[in-house]
Amino acid sequence: MTIKGALSEGIRILKEADIEAPAVDAGAVMCHVLGCDRVYLYTKGDMEVPEDILGEFFRMVGMRAKGMPLSYITGRKEFMSLSFKVTPDTLIPRPETEILVESVIEQAKKWQGFHTGEGMDLRILDIGTGSGCIAVSLAYYIKAKCRITAVDISEKALEVAEENALQNGVRQKIEFRESDLFSCLDRGREKYDIIVSNPPYIAEDEIQRLQREVRDYEPALALNGGRDGLDFYKRITAEAPEFLKPGGMLFLEAGYGQAHIIAEMMRKKFNDIRIIPDLSHIDRVVTGKRL
Ligand code: GLN
Repeated sequence: MTIKGALSEGIRILKEADIEAPAVDAGAVMCHVLGCDRVYLYTKGDMEVPEDILGEFFRMVGMRAKGMPLSYITGRKEFMSLSFKVTPDTLIPRPETEILVESVIEQAKKWQGFHTGEGMDLRILDIGTGSGCIAVSLAYYIKAKCRITAVDISEKALEVAEENALQNGVRQKIEFRESDLFSCLDRGREKYDIIVSNPPYIAEDEIQRLQREVRDYEPALALNGGRDGLDFYKRITAEAPEFLKPGGMLFLEAGYGQAHIIAEMMRKKFNDIRIIPDLSHIDRVVTGKRL
């Protein structure tokens, strides 16, 4: 079978399974099994696909047809123009989280050598690092000297995050620790300039209403924000001040309709509270400065 032939058969299977973008996904799977880019598919459409690779292609198309997200099939996801490994133990990085990361980078630029004092490292804490997409991107793009602590409750997620730090060349800037939010940090001693988090924020009974790609395949641990979806915001906003230097900043990603509630939670111990919308005009990031 040729590349073209296999692709149209793959597209047919995905269409039949009601997959949203059959051509895009079939093409991505073919690129993955052949180890090539998209241009190659179109210029070499008449090339015969070796039998074993063809088998692999249809096996993966079958997984996609059952609803498995493309990123878990290929094991990769791009975020902030960097390449990340993902496994079913990690949430797949979302484009809206780039807004959160960019807000932190902007703040770090403003502070370079000013807030922390010349020559001192900027200290950043990433809570619930998952694939490590936030911590790794910050380590990669912040040019000032910085040291990042990335924590997660899942040991398996931390292994993936560490590999992502290695692959992106920033392993030496990040310390990974297994921790239930702040539980493993040294209370009273460890102080950060910035705390950032994209915590699980879906309300428990909303989870079953999510698309099957998310509901059946992404880790519940990374999605479930408790009865009202706000459990982690309550815990983080209550405990963060203790781990921030005076004037240090908290950056939180918010789910749909949550930003103002989170801002309210921060009101007592933070000032300069700001809400930043994403590209779909949904209030996505809440930031504030510790009093
Ligand atoms: N920090 C990771 C991300 O933004 C994981 C978030 C999570 O699991 N809730 O993708």
